[in-house]
Amino acid sequence: MERIYIGMGSNLAAPTQQLRSATDALAQLPETEWVGVSSFYQSDSLLPGQPRYTNAVAAFDSRLSPLALLDALQAIENSQGRERNERWGPRTLDLDILLFGDRLIDEPRLKVPHYHMHARAFVLYPLAELAPENLQLADGRTLRELLAACPFVGLERLA
Ligand code: ATP
Ligand code: CA
Ligand code: CA
Repeated sequence: MERIYIGMGSNLAAPTQQLRSATDALAQLPETEWVGVSSFYQSDSLLPGQPRYTNAVAAFDSRLSPLALLDALQAIENSQGRERNERWGPRTLDLDILLFGDRLIDEPRLKVPHYHMHARAFVLYPLAELAPENLQLADGRTLRELLAACPFVGLERLA
């Protein structure tokens, strides 16, 4: 089993509900033992003119292979009405593999650690609820160091 962290995001069609449904779907993945989900956070879209995003991070242990997991995540996105039009367009559900054990994956369909997680407050703060602060990324930086470099700005933790 490897510990996996998933970044979840939604800014269409009742985002909080979308993340709850996604959490239920993730908890039912085969060959997987559920660990937990962070609080939900809201923030403005990185691109102007889009609705605000709701984000959270989920953690579980799994025996699935990375590409089998990516297939499963994309099936969950599709089942929740994800349409793939413009890049970074608004979406009902986005599921990104942030970390997969301590693996470094560089394949056409899958890059892990997720390439932008180190700079995104809406990823790092929910991740810190689930992962130890001395969690180390592949480049040797710890979660604590990444948090220190990424202020909690524009992020609103939902009750
Ligand atoms: P960003 O990657 O900046 O967060 P995005 O999530 O909007 O953007 P998508 O359109 O959801 O990007 O995904 C595009 C492709 O990224 C997917 O089809 C998938 O093959 C690929 N991909 C690469 N690495 C990952 C990863 N770690 N997790 C999920 N998808 C990934
Ligand atoms: Ca994403
Ligand atoms: Ca994605």
